[in-house]
Amino acid sequence: MPLEPVNFVEPVETPIGLKPALQRAAMTCAAVAKSGLDLLLPPQCLACRTLVDRPGLLCAKCFAGAQTIAPPFCRSCGVPLPSAANVSGLPAIDMSCGRCLTEPPVFTRARSVFIYDEVARRLVHDLKYGDRLEGRASFGAWLARAGGEYATQADLIVPVPLHYFRLVRRRYNQAAVLAKALSQSVRRPLAVDAVRRIRPTKSQTGLSAAERASNLRRAFAVRNKWLPRVKGAQIVLVDDVMTTGATANACARALKRAGAAEITVLTLARVKEPM
Ligand SMILES: [Zn+2]
Ligand SMILES: [Zn+2]
Repeated sequence: MPLEPVNFVEPVETPIGLKPALQRAAMTCAAVAKSGLDLLLPPQCLACRTLVDRPGLLCAKCFAGAQTIAPPFCRSCGVPLPSAANVSGLPAIDMSCGRCLTEPPVFTRARSVFIYDEVARRLVHDLKYGDRLEGRASFGAWLARAGGEYATQADLIVPVPLHYFRLVRRRYNQAAVLAKALSQSVRRPLAVDAVRRIRPTKSQTGLSAAERASNLRRAFAVRNKWLPRVKGAQIVLVDDVMTTGATANACARALKRAGAAEITVLTLARVKEPM
């Protein structure tokens, strides 16, 4: 089933009653004092801030530029596979990438909405560092579509936790924002604090796959109060971006230790190839 971003409309060039110069001035002010002006400004594209009809949309250019992930992809890690890979005659749904065949992930499966390209990078960046939370409903709907039945039948939706210090600096956990949006979209229970970091980890940036895995060893655990709900459960684990899958694997290992039946990882974006 091809995956298309939901709700998309043509960009609005000039909103009624707002002349271009005034509009530019307003947008400059918006960058400085965003929160107050949000209520006065017309809605902007989630990725590039071009004006759009309604909040929570991509403009035509970003919509065309965004690379959504469609079959064939690896049944385990969700990495897109070249169509030519299907020489085996297997249905596309049963194909695995070489990496998952030699080294199966701890999680049951991973799915993502977008390839982590320029548009996805801007979406994730704004989610992390900006105050733009108006995209929540769209993010929830996109994740729900990428997760399909695994999302709609989840027993529990759980975000990848941030380290405490990072949570303070950014004020919120973007994985938790996405998990909440998904939970509202599919009406399945959210356990925002089910997985916690039990020791601080270095930033994953610039580490090799092996270094990432060892950096994260035993870094996560399931909170005691959630153990009864996790045992035997179909878990959807939510994060913003998947790179090597090391973080997802480390969280999945903690959930497995707590007795989770299946773990489906859902991310807004993923790198095209494991780095
Ligand atoms: Zn745009
Ligand atoms: Zn794979």
